[in-house]
Amino acid sequence: MEAPECPVCIQPMTVPIFQCQSGHSLCNSCTVKLSPPICPICRQTMTQMRNWQLEDLVGKAIAACPNKNKGCVYKYVSKEMEDHVKECIFREMDCPMGKVFGTCSWSGKLKELLNHFKDRHPGNCANITSNITSNFTIDNISVTNDCRHFYILQFNKQIFFLSFKIDTVQKLGYWLVQYVGTKKAARQNVYEIQINSKQHQKRTVTYIDYCFSDSMDANEVFRQAQCAVMPLIMMGHFIDNSKITFRCLIKLFNKPAINNNDQSKHATTGQKNGPPFPNRHKSPGPHVSRAKGSGVNNTQSVGPKHGPKKQQANFNKK
Ligand SMILES: [Zn+2]
Ligand SMILES: [Zn+2]
Ligand SMILES: [Zn+2]
Ligand SMILES: [Zn+2]
Repeated sequence: MEAPECPVCIQPMTVPIFQCQSGHSLCNSCTVKLSPPICPICRQTMTQMRNWQLEDLVGKAIAACPNKNKGCVYKYVSKEMEDHVKECIFREMDCPMGKVFGTCSWSGKLKELLNHFKDRHPGNCANITSNITSNFTIDNISVTNDCRHFYILQFNKQIFFLSFKIDTVQKLGYWLVQYVGTKKAARQNVYEIQINSKQHQKRTVTYIDYCFSDSMDANEVFRQAQCAVMPLIMMGHFIDNSKITFRCLIKLFNKPAINNNDQSKHATTGQKNGPPFPNRHKSPGPHVSRAKGSGVNNTQSVGPKHGPKKQQANFNKK
């Protein structure tokens, strides 16, 4: 059943639904906009009276995405729609440079975002010519100054956001890759951050994890340490001449052969080829080496407890 429409905005009804004194039911977004609370249809006062039957109906109804006319074909049970709208790839989106730094007021469609970046923020576009790996060097950084860097990347025709942050209050540095789109699709992509030391060629840290959707607030992900996190005291060893270098790799997640754990619920990619992610002992790149016979070889697993995550840190000190 299709969701009933709100008589005012002609959009599918959303809960809670309030009624006016003569019985008109308005959607939630129309109700909260009313100031003073007068019914736009009959000019009677809006009440706190809910329309429970209609709310029940709306919760079970199938509604098309409000961005249907822009090309979205998603149809959801109405109560899930609110979540979808936040991550719908057909939504109008604000330039993330505006959100992060307050330096841009552009808004538009996702398919225009990459061109907008190339045009207005060329320094924040990662070099996407070398298929899936990008090398980054951030200049003028130190572990005693807060900083935030933001890049847009493209892989497999999808757009990703890479955030790097130094937080001197928390004494932590963060790397996060977000997939622009739904949470479900985000989990079909895996990112790998590899931080290399210029002074010590063998000193490398690699972090592998699912991408988060861009509908998740990056600051919240940082706050909960759900991404690559490094203590600043440690990061200091990777900074050389006020520069830090790291590589970012994005790859498709391949469904594990055994579906007896939580992962299988979320990762639903139909990829048939390739090894299952993440293979701890076969991290790509020339610098990931486990020094044979070296006495100082320490594999650690630190980080967030929730979610299927794998991470690896190898320290091979000379
Ligand atoms: Zn409405
Ligand atoms: Zn009314
Ligand atoms: Zn949509
Ligand atoms: Zn912008």
